[in-house]
Amino acid sequence: MSFDLTTDQLGLRARARELASTLVADNAAEVDRTEEYPWDNVKALTDAGFMGMTVPKELGGAGRSFLEANLVVEEMASYCGPTGRIVVEGNMGAISAIIHYGTKSQQRLAADLVLAGDKPAICITEPDAGSAASLMTTRADKRGDGYIVNGKKHWITGGGVSRLHLIFARVFDEDGSELGIGGFLAIRGEAKGLHIGAREPTMGLRGIPETEVIFEDLEIPADMVLMPPSGFKRGFADLMNAYNSQRVGAGTVALGLAAGAYRNALAFAKEREQFGRPIAEFQGLQWMLADMSVQLEAARALLHKAALSAGHNGSPFPDATLAAQGKIFTSEMALKVTTDALQVFGARGYSRNYPMERLARDARMFTIGGGTAQILRTVVASRILEQKLPQTRDGFAQLAEQAERDARLEAAE
Ligand SMILES: Cc1cc2nc3c(=O)[nH]c(=O)nc-3n(C[C@H](O)[C@H](O)[C@H](O)COP(=O)(O)OP(=O)(O)OC[C@H]3O[C@@H](n4cnc5c(N)ncnc54)[C@H](O)[C@@H]3O)c2cc1C
Repeated sequence: MSFDLTTDQLGLRARARELASTLVADNAAEVDRTEEYPWDNVKALTDAGFMGMTVPKELGGAGRSFLEANLVVEEMASYCGPTGRIVVEGNMGAISAIIHYGTKSQQRLAADLVLAGDKPAICITEPDAGSAASLMTTRADKRGDGYIVNGKKHWITGGGVSRLHLIFARVFDEDGSELGIGGFLAIRGEAKGLHIGAREPTMGLRGIPETEVIFEDLEIPADMVLMPPSGFKRGFADLMNAYNSQRVGAGTVALGLAAGAYRNALAFAKEREQFGRPIAEFQGLQWMLADMSVQLEAARALLHKAALSAGHNGSPFPDATLAAQGKIFTSEMALKVTTDALQVFGARGYSRNYPMERLARDARMFTIGGGTAQILRTVVASRILEQKLPQTRDGFAQLAEQAERDARLEAAE
């Protein structure tokens, strides 16, 4: 595994930096203030080929790797967190799941939308099923060739702006028997029964709406069922495997926010004078800046390693443990680095006239969304202890029951 970027990758990063440091940087404060989706930035990202970069060439994409997409994510996020997140979801998560598990027509549909600038929404979390996502109650009942979906999701990124939705639901056969958790595709504006509910007033990352998404007898035709190859039985595990790409992307947004805060702090420390000297001459600040650089390098190396693990060990997605380790480390690193960088600015860091408070508010999200730092530690612990670690009270008994059900289904297939 090499950490050296190729000439082509360096060129890609330079192109991303050029866009990030001009249009995206100019819009960032206004996006935060107005809480409006940055459609100008989306158009520029689309024109530059940064949406759908990971889509295979035969579908019109650039066939780029997760590492390459993350180089762009870091640059965008270092000026504007929401724009970094749009690049993540335009290249990872739902689109990766569809490219890998979808039929040819689903791949075509998703690729066309993303390449035209759509940021797909992933609908997993429910009011009573957050960390315990597998306890979701949204259900998909088989009707003829398709399914009818009913339920309510919340905290859905892009609610009301995203067109393509990947919906996770508990699947029931016509006889009422439960088949597992599956993924279903719907397009807002075309699918009847998909409604956008209330928007959350968020602390940061305000340019992207987080909303409820409600399904009322949403009809999913057979060709919009994202059937994982192993069937619904393993559907949730397969879909969550694809989600590892998004976890690395989310970690990279946190990295970008921290890198942006550090860049500002470094420049400010050289300019600002107190006691007749630039504050960068004081060892107290030199060590803070040095610590920031150490943390950033470590986080970047871990995330690049996680991104590069895709395609190894028989999976097209990043390794689950590395993705979890990368997101834990980077999300917590970003809290410290954005806070310390704000400190370097003194009172100005606390003012909305400077970007430091926005970067710190934006960074606060990443230990929560997309798997909390606590739940991801459980993922890591499960791998290093080489055992499943169910979190429900009767989890181990359920595990045994599930194994029995799986064996019965396997025998019947
Ligand atoms: C900005 C943002 C965007 C999001 N976007 C999406 C999206 O697009 N799609 C989507 O489906 N979801 C999305 N989410 C939801 C997110 O994935 C959930 O918030 C997250 O999974 C945690 O669920 P919860 O908020 O219900 O917290 P809870 O599960 O209620 O957890 C509360 C606290 O308890 C801790 N905890 C819970 N269980 C355990 C345990 N077993 N061991 C140790 N600690 C535990 C948690 O770590 C947390 O600190 C988003 C969230 C945010 C903040």
